[in-house]
Amino acid sequence: MNKPLVAILSGAGVSTDSGIPDYRGPNGLWRQDPEAEKLVTYEYYMGDPEIRRRAWRMRRETGALQAAPNAAHLAVAELEKSGIPVRVLTQNVDGLHQLAGMPARKVLELHGTARAVVCTACHERTPMQEALARVEAGEDDPPCRSCGGILKPATVLFGEHLDPVVLGEAAAIAKACQIFIAVGSSLQVHPAAGLAGVAADHGARLIVVNAEPTPYDDRAEKVVREPIGTALPALLRGLTKESNH
Ligand code: ZN
Repeated sequence: MNKPLVAILSGAGVSTDSGIPDYRGPNGLWRQDPEAEKLVTYEYYMGDPEIRRRAWRMRRETGALQAAPNAAHLAVAELEKSGIPVRVLTQNVDGLHQLAGMPARKVLELHGTARAVVCTACHERTPMQEALARVEAGEDDPPCRSCGGILKPATVLFGEHLDPVVLGEAAAIAKACQIFIAVGSSLQVHPAAGLAGVAADHGARLIVVNAEPTPYDDRAEKVVREPIGTALPALLRGLTKESNH
């Protein structure tokens, strides 16, 4: 029997057990604090050196790169190791699915990654760790070492567009999958959220795991409201059993 292609849309709720709060969701921290939102808004970031200095201080202080994968990330990696084809479409920028053992080529980072920085002039990518070490050493707004341009995290800031190539691949996966699991996402931030609708339109079984209701609940075959750290591992173990019969 052919194993189903499982697509997992992973939202902020997947990483909260790793100590990473919801920053960019509709009720996220950044949305509630206009001053904090400026630090992650392209126009302000590029136009104001003081905003950049504050953004670098914030990145240094939050220590997001130290976070470790939790039970939900590990369960997803385990599903993939069981031989079921899995693709992760993540709204998170923390890289925790890969750290948990998901092969990087099977993870699409819709909002980019906070583990790298990119030069806004020459587009060179370098590790975030390196840039943070420079901040630690006293550079309060480290410029690109190749061209002197402004460095930004390799994430999609407010005011920036999602990478059309990544988005196209995500849509192709949503169309092709047999099972689409939306987990820890309010499914309110488009275009990422629309992927659940695309999957359902193309005949996938839609499963929603989220504490709060989402706009796609009425299209889901199953809606799970329990905490993600226990609910997702249980759900994925069930899928593994189901597809091995
Ligand atoms: Zn550069």
